[in-house]
Amino acid sequence: MLTVDAYAAPSATEPLVKTTIERRDVGANDVLIEIAYSGICHSDIHTVRGEWGQIAYPQVVGHEIVGTVTEVGSAVTKHKVGDRVGVGCMVNSCGECENCLAGEEQYCLAGNTGTYAAVDRDGTITQGGYSTHVVVVEDFVLKVPESIPFEKAAPLLCAGITTYSPLAHWNAGPGKRVAVVGMGGLGHMAVKIAHAMGAEVTVLSQSLSKQEDGLRLGADHYYATSDEATFSELKNHFDLIINTVSASIDINAYLSLLRLDGTLVSVGAPAEPLPVGVFTLFGNRRTFAGSSIGGIRETQEMLDFCAEHDIAPETELISADYINEAYERVLSSDVRYRFVIDAATISA
Ligand SMILES: [Zn+2]
Ligand SMILES: [Zn+2]
Repeated sequence: MLTVDAYAAPSATEPLVKTTIERRDVGANDVLIEIAYSGICHSDIHTVRGEWGQIAYPQVVGHEIVGTVTEVGSAVTKHKVGDRVGVGCMVNSCGECENCLAGEEQYCLAGNTGTYAAVDRDGTITQGGYSTHVVVVEDFVLKVPESIPFEKAAPLLCAGITTYSPLAHWNAGPGKRVAVVGMGGLGHMAVKIAHAMGAEVTVLSQSLSKQEDGLRLGADHYYATSDEATFSELKNHFDLIINTVSASIDINAYLSLLRLDGTLVSVGAPAEPLPVGVFTLFGNRRTFAGSSIGGIRETQEMLDFCAEHDIAPETELISADYINEAYERVLSSDVRYRFVIDAATISA
């Protein structure tokens, strides 16, 4: 066992505190990663506060991890000491079901093993990236291209792949009109990636407060959804809408913006079910869909795509003792656009 420094939630209601946790010994197929940076995802907050179900405490979260390989197991072939690597939302899967065999491990029929708050293969509870080191099976470790600035790369591992996967699956590209609902951690990545894929990109945000950023990051158009005229002007307009908002929205109003064979994909998860009007789907043969992160092969494809197109998340680098304040700012949408923890400050 390796004892490492970390920031953990002691309970659902207390702030995160500095502590130590145990990492398993490096097995034959494992790599040991010295974490350099760890992103803060809204899911981290939902999880530690018990809003997505009861969890065991203390719990370390964080599933946007980049770092350097410092040790490899005897059977490891994909990574070597010194490699720049990343770990995203999952650290294992069954490897045998039809979805795993198709390279879609995120949809593992036995359930993928989440990077934190999940039961690992050895029965322990997985602990996430707000820590100095992590031990991960080599198959779930990604290569982070040198050209992506390391201190910005971490959010690609969740926000990046969560938006890249549906954009790629539903063929965002030249001639396609893509709308991104919400200009937060996920939304700003969707704008950059959809733009790089060649699509015509429109941001649908509650207000115009981030309009300048949206246009700078690659959006062609920017509309406020608080303005009723937006919905009449853009009716029957989009091929693809990526909904990154986790609050409940009037889903039928957004569905009505889809043109023939258009698809609205939700990647944000509201707590309550959304009432979808089937008659709205009849019109224009519309589809309402969901998408969850991406497989390992596709995550690597996304990292390579971002390197090729010079795409990196907009980040605010913080020290570990600022995590609790950062959480409050995430909850009030006061971050442009992702907090990243400098892991060197975790042991300070
Ligand atoms: Zn996440
Ligand atoms: Zn599986």
